[in-house]
Amino acid sequence: MDDTFYFSEQNLAVRDTVREFARDHVAPVAAKLDAEGKFLWENVRRMGELGLLGVPWPEELGGAGLDITSYIIAIHEMAKVDASHAITISAHTTLGTSPIVKFGNDEQRHRYVPLLASGKVLGGFGLTEPSAGSDAGGTRTRAEKRGDRYVLNGSKIFITHGGVGEIFVVTAVTDATRGTKGISSFILTKPTTDLDSARAVGVGHDESLPAMKGFRAGKKEDKLGWRSSDTRELVFEDVEVPEENLLGREGEGFTNFMQTLDSGRIGIGALSLGIAEGAYEEALKYASIRKQFGKPIADFQGIQFQLSDMATEIEAGRHLVFHAAWLAQHGKPFGKEAAMAKLFCSELAMRATTKAVQIHGGYGYTKDYPVERMMRDAKICEIGEGTSEIQRLVIGRHILREVAG
Ligand SMILES: Cc1cc2nc3c(=O)[nH]c(=O)nc-3n(C[C@H](O)[C@H](O)[C@H](O)COP(=O)(O)OP(=O)(O)OC[C@H]3O[C@@H](n4cnc5c(N)ncnc54)[C@H](O)[C@@H]3O)c2cc1C
Repeated sequence: MDDTFYFSEQNLAVRDTVREFARDHVAPVAAKLDAEGKFLWENVRRMGELGLLGVPWPEELGGAGLDITSYIIAIHEMAKVDASHAITISAHTTLGTSPIVKFGNDEQRHRYVPLLASGKVLGGFGLTEPSAGSDAGGTRTRAEKRGDRYVLNGSKIFITHGGVGEIFVVTAVTDATRGTKGISSFILTKPTTDLDSARAVGVGHDESLPAMKGFRAGKKEDKLGWRSSDTRELVFEDVEVPEENLLGREGEGFTNFMQTLDSGRIGIGALSLGIAEGAYEEALKYASIRKQFGKPIADFQGIQFQLSDMATEIEAGRHLVFHAAWLAQHGKPFGKEAAMAKLFCSELAMRATTKAVQIHGGYGYTKDYPVERMMRDAKICEIGEGTSEIQRLVIGRHILREVAG
C-alpha cells in the first residue's frame, strides 16, 4: 500500500510521532510491564502531552483536532510495538470519551471532554456484565429515578481502565418493560485506584470530579494478554447519580453504545493489524539472521511461503482498516466495513503471531523475543468489542439488508 497516496502529510506526521514515541518509550519497557502487569502512568503523561489521548476531538475541547485516519494511525502504529499501550489510546478515546462528545450536551462536553482529551484523567465504558456479554441487551444494572437523581445498583465486568480511570459512561436499565429501549446511559465518576502513582506523575486524578458514593472498582483481572492494560469490575451500590449526568435521553443508551462499538471496531481492527505487522517484522528480521543447514532460514521456501502469506494478508487488512476509517471520516455508513476490518484483522493477528512464533522456533516460545507476547495480545482482539461470531452476525445483517433493498 502506497502510504503517500492514501495519507495526508498530517497523517504521516502523526505516524512519525507515534513511531518515535513507541521506539523511545514503549519498546524498552513493554516486556517488563507485561511480566509485571503494570500500568505505566509516565507514558500516559507523555501520550497526553503528545495529544494522543484526544486525537480526533476539537481543539476547543482540549483535543488535537485531527481526523479519524490520524487517530486510527496512532492506534495501529502503537500496536506494532505494544498492544497494551494501543488499547489505552483506543479504549480511552472511542469508548470512554466519544459517547460524551457525540451524545452529551454542551455542559457535559465542556465539563468532561477537556479532562479526558488532554489525558489529565482516563475514561472507560461500562457495558459488559456477568450475564450480559455478547447479548448486551441483557443488562441487569438498574437505575431508579428518585427525585432529581438516579440510584444505580449492579455491576460491570472486564472494564478497561476500571481501576485507573475516573470518568465512565455506563449503561443501566431505567424501564424494565421496554427491552433495549429501556436502557439508558450515565456519566459516573470516582477517584483512580492508583492515586499515589497518579499524583506522583501528575496525571490520572482531578480533584474537581466528585467521588460518587457506592461506585468503586472491583477485582482486577489477571489476563493472558494486554497485561499492562488495567481491566476490572465496576460495582454500583446505591450510587446516587444527579439527573444532569444522564447521557442523551432516557432509553437511548443501548443504541448509543452500539454506535460507539461500530466506531470502536475500526480501532480494534487497526490494533489487530498493528500486532500482525509487529510480529511480521520480527519474523522477517529473525528469518534473515537465523541460520540452519548453513544458510539463513529465510532462504527456505517453506519460510518464505509463511512470510508471503503474512505480508499479503497484512496488505489486505490495511485496505480494510483504512477504507473503513475513510468512510467514517467522510460521514458515510461504515458499520459493515468496520465489522469486516475487525473480524479479518483480529483473526489475521492470531494467524500472523502464531506464524511468527513458528518462524522463531523454540526461541519464539520464550520471553527473549516479543513474538510470544504479541501472540498472547492478539487473542483478545477476537473477543473484545464484539467476538468474531458477533462480527459475522453484524456483517450478515448488513448483507441481508442490502439484498432486501
Ligand atoms: C481484556 C478485556 C477488556 C474488555 N474491555 C471492555 C470494556 O472496556 N467495556 C466493556 O463493556 N466490555 C469490555 N470487555 C468485555 C468484552 O467486550 C466481552 O468479553 C465480549 O463482548 C464477549 O462477551 P462475554 O465475555 O460475556 O462472552 P459471551 O457473550 O458469553 O460469549 C461466549 C462465546 O459464545 C459466543 N456467542 C455468544 N452469542 C453468540 C451468538 N448469538 N452466535 C454465535 N456465538 C455466540 C461468543 O462469540 C463466544 O465465543 C473486555 C473484555 C476483555 C477480556
